[in-house]
Amino acid sequence: MKAVGIDLGTTNSEVAIVENGQVRVLPGEDGDLILPSCVGFSDTGKVLVGREALRQYAAAPERTVKSIKRWMGTDHKTTLGDKEYLPHEVSAIILRALKQRAENALGETITQAVITVPAYFTDAQRQATKTAGEIAGLEVLQIINEPTAAALAYDLRSEETERVLVYDLGGGTFDVSVVEITGEVTEVLATHGNNRLGGDDFDRLLQLYLVDIFRKQHGVDVPDDAVTQARLLRAAEQLKIDLSSHAFATIREAFLGTKGKTALHLETEVPRADLEKLIRPLLTETLEAIDRALTDADLLPGDIDRIILVGGSTRIPLVQEMISEHLGQTPSDGIQPDLCVALGAALQAGVLVGESVDAILVDVIPHSLGIAAAVTTPMGIMPGYFSVIIPRNSVVPVSRSQVYYTVSDEQEVVEIEVFQGENAIAEENVPLGDFRVENLPPKPAGGIQVEVHFDFDINGILTVTTTEKGKGQQGTLVVNNAGIEKLSSHELKQARADLDALFEADETIEISTEETISVVEIAPELAALLDRAQQTLSTLDSEQAEELEDLLAQIENANASKSAELSQLQEELSDFLYYASTNDE
Ligand code: AMP
Repeated sequence: MKAVGIDLGTTNSEVAIVENGQVRVLPGEDGDLILPSCVGFSDTGKVLVGREALRQYAAAPERTVKSIKRWMGTDHKTTLGDKEYLPHEVSAIILRALKQRAENALGETITQAVITVPAYFTDAQRQATKTAGEIAGLEVLQIINEPTAAALAYDLRSEETERVLVYDLGGGTFDVSVVEITGEVTEVLATHGNNRLGGDDFDRLLQLYLVDIFRKQHGVDVPDDAVTQARLLRAAEQLKIDLSSHAFATIREAFLGTKGKTALHLETEVPRADLEKLIRPLLTETLEAIDRALTDADLLPGDIDRIILVGGSTRIPLVQEMISEHLGQTPSDGIQPDLCVALGAALQAGVLVGESVDAILVDVIPHSLGIAAAVTTPMGIMPGYFSVIIPRNSVVPVSRSQVYYTVSDEQEVVEIEVFQGENAIAEENVPLGDFRVENLPPKPAGGIQVEVHFDFDINGILTVTTTEKGKGQQGTLVVNNAGIEKLSSHELKQARADLDALFEADETIEISTEETISVVEIAPELAALLDRAQQTLSTLDSEQAEELEDLLAQIENANASKSAELSQLQEELSDFLYYASTNDE
């Protein structure tokens, strides 16, 4: 039985496999190795995942969602069409598409996977990821940290111990990990990061910069509506990507606003140096995280043998420059930063199902785990302190216990509040759950001992057990918080069936489209756009109508000749229609 490795990213996802000792990322039908982590429904209700969904994002934001990973582990609801979805349900759709991609590429059913998460993910986020996999019909063999997976992907076969710094800057998250690799064993020594720092922030900074330029050029503001701003953000991301390979790049966005009856465009050349000025402060924060990780691992920059870059945002030259300068060595290259996490996950999956690959994984917990407790101080007893039971960076799996005493006479109840984090004040950390040990026998303060036992498993899931010493009364808590209840087997079955139905409906629709093709095939989302264009035509003045007709003619040609320009023209049309509709309001 083959098991795949999946990098379920904020922006992009990939699926990889080990076959005959070789590891590779599996392509989709379009040959693309990357599946954008975007989900949507077409206007006919067909489920769209990846580029197709991304393409309709600007035109149909009410039916499309991206970056769902930022919400994992919460009960944030996304409305897609007429239904609401929880973050793990959207992720399940992405995972299901990756499963299908793997099955198509390999010609066999895939039921097992290793899935990666940022090292900084909380327990709730890990649990939600696991549940998403299960809904997608995958047995999740293990959840592993992305930087660990990346380190596994580098074929470091030397017998010497190598200390590797993995710097992972993606679309929405940043992680840095210090990993020690000896022969076949990978051990994470320390990890740090920021769940909310990534390429998306650079895009937003660049968007504001463009808003400024527009104001200077035209003396008016870019309209503040969601659609125009979304267009600008998309253009900002493209500009940022262009600036990774060019010292100057040009942005051209037509119909961004109006002044009286005149349509206003944004066209400007942006020097790389301007982007660098905008993002430098954020990158400086990432260097500080490197220093903290090194301190935790008890290492100096000179002790690092190799630097590995992961995540699309590490393609930015300034990122590489700042890291090289800070650590006094240049990062390794050779593996694509977007693919190494999936490759590493596949290696680990291979190990777990007994493929002959030589890699063993040792991981650490990213946050300290403990409970709120009272401490005795010269001013008396102070409640609410964070008593750490498992310190950050302990190797997993790990089990630790600590004994606590009652603080008042005849105390009947002990409240166990579990937190993760590094702050000495319990409340300042992330709450993971709480429960009570009740009906304690009447005893003076300090007369009752309660042992609190933490079990942290290889998937990053924490089980807390308390035992009252002497009487043996027990309480248990499986940490699984933030609104994500573990699904019962019935709920899981139902969720799977719903997902199956979505994907089956999808297949039926594809067949029926084929049957009705007569002359030229038109993708459903293009057909919907063309429909809207026809309706819009009658509302336009003659100059705009002519412009639209010209665009429609170009699209017709591009579609008939299957030209690569089609998707760009389609985007232009979508932008045009928005401009026209906002102009009406
Ligand atoms: P990941 O989460 O690793 O897929 O990274 C996605 C992020 O990388 C997004 O913010 C992209 O805009 C960004 N990205 C991808 N390619 C490049 C590039 N060549 N230069 C700068 N940023 C990039």
